[in-house]
Amino acid sequence: MSPLRLFRRSFSHGVHPEGLKEQTADRPIQRVPFVESYVMPLGQHIGVPAKPLVRVGQRLVRGEPIAEAGAFVSTWLHSPVTGRVRDIGPHRYIDGSFKPAIEIEADPYATQQLEQRLPPAWDSLDAAQFIQEIQRAGIVGMGGAAFPAHVKYSIPEGQQIHDLLVNGAECEPFLTNDHRLMMERPDALLRGIEILMVQLGAERAAIGVEANKPDAIEVLRSRIDDGSPVEVVALPVKYPQGAEKMLIKAIYDREVPAGQLPRDLGIAVNNVGTLVAIADRFDRGMPLIERVVTVSGPGVTYPANLIVPLGTPVREVLRFCGGLREETREVVMGGPMMGAPIASLDVPVLKGSSGILAFTEQETRRPKEYPCIRCGRCLEACPYFLNPSRLARLGKARLFQEMKEFQVMDCVECGACTFACPSSIPIVQLIRTAKDNLRHLR
Ligand code: SF4
Ligand code: SF4
Repeated sequence: MSPLRLFRRSFSHGVHPEGLKEQTADRPIQRVPFVESYVMPLGQHIGVPAKPLVRVGQRLVRGEPIAEAGAFVSTWLHSPVTGRVRDIGPHRYIDGSFKPAIEIEADPYATQQLEQRLPPAWDSLDAAQFIQEIQRAGIVGMGGAAFPAHVKYSIPEGQQIHDLLVNGAECEPFLTNDHRLMMERPDALLRGIEILMVQLGAERAAIGVEANKPDAIEVLRSRIDDGSPVEVVALPVKYPQGAEKMLIKAIYDREVPAGQLPRDLGIAVNNVGTLVAIADRFDRGMPLIERVVTVSGPGVTYPANLIVPLGTPVREVLRFCGGLREETREVVMGGPMMGAPIASLDVPVLKGSSGILAFTEQETRRPKEYPCIRCGRCLEACPYFLNPSRLARLGKARLFQEMKEFQVMDCVECGACTFACPSSIPIVQLIRTAKDNLRHLR
C-alpha cells in the first residue's frame, strides 16, 4: 500500500501553519548525559499534586518512587537518577511561580543503570490492577497535556471501548519527537497498542499520522501484518489535528458532543509516547522517568531530538545542544502554538514537555494590532465552532461572564484563531485571561 494513500476526510476548519520540522525530522534520538541536579515538581500533571514519600538526605535509586498520587486524578513520581534528596520545597516552575518540588542531587559515581524491577505480567492483571499499575508508573498523556493516563482507562460500568485511536499527528510546527519515536521504536509502540487493546477490550486500533511523515507511516505499516486490527491512517496536514476531538472527526467522521468524552463514543485516544511508556513499563520495568524532547527553533545552535531525564534543567538540555544563539529572545516549552514561554532556563523538563523551542526577535516581535475588520477568518479557523472575534471583543472589555455564555470554557487554546487573524488580535491570550479569571471566580 502506498504510504501516501491519504484519508481525504479531516475535521472542519483549522489552519495550515508552516511545518518547520526539517531542522530535526531526520535527527535520530540521542540521550543527554546525566547532570548534577534534578527538580521534580509535585504538580506536573493535570489534577491533584503528588505527595512526597521521601525526606531530605534520603538516598534514592533511579526509578524509585519519590511521591505518591494525591488523589485518583493524580499520579506517582519517580527519581530520574540515583542520588540523594537535596531539598523538598518551593522551586521555580515554568510560568515563573514557585511550586512544591523534590530536588535530587545525582550521585556522580553511580552507573545510573535502571534496576530491572518488572511489574506483574500485564496479561495477568484485571482492569482495576492494570489501572493501578499505570498510575503507580506515573504515566500521563505525553502529547503535552499530562493528563494521568489511568483516568482515561477507568471505563464506567455500562460503557465499552471498541476503538483505540493512536495520536501520531504531531501537528504543531517544529516538533518531531513523536515522529522519531514512530521511526525508531515502532515495535514498542505496537506493543503498547497490543497491551492497551487487550486491557480495554478494544477491537480495532488506528494510528493517525499526518502525511508529512511518510517514512514513519511506511515503517509502521511494514510492521503490521495483513488482517491485523491495527491500521495506519495517513491524514492531510492540518492544525490542530492532534486535538483528540479533531482526530476522532478526521478518522471516524464522528463528533464528540460538548460536555462528553471520547469514551462516551467507545473511543480511547492516546499519544504515541504514552503507548511507548506503557510498553516500557511492562517490558523494561521502567516508570515514567524520562521522555523524548525536540529542541529546535532559530535560537538553538544544534537542534536535536533527545531523551531527557525528567527534572533536568532546561539550561542543561540547551547546553548539550551547543547553547542558545545570541539573538534568542524567548524559550518556549511545548510547541509554538500551544506551548508557553518559560520564565527561567533553570526550570525543569516535565512529563508534558514535548519541545524546547528558542525564538529570536523575528519570531517573537509582536505585530502591530489593528481593529477587527469582521473578516470571519477566525470563525473559519476555529475547530470548535466558537466565535473568537466576539470572545476577543468581550475579553477586551473584561466581560468574562458574558464570555462564559459564548462557551469560552470550551476553547482548547489551540491558537488557530490568532494565527488566522489578519489584524493580529491576540485572541487566544484574551481567552486565556478570561478562563483564568472565571476559574478563580468559582
Ligand atoms: S477560540 Fe479557542 S479553540 Fe477556537 S481557534 Fe481560538 S484558541 Fe482554538
Ligand atoms: S480574524 Fe481577526 S479581524 Fe477577522 S473577524 Fe476574526 S478577530 Fe476580526
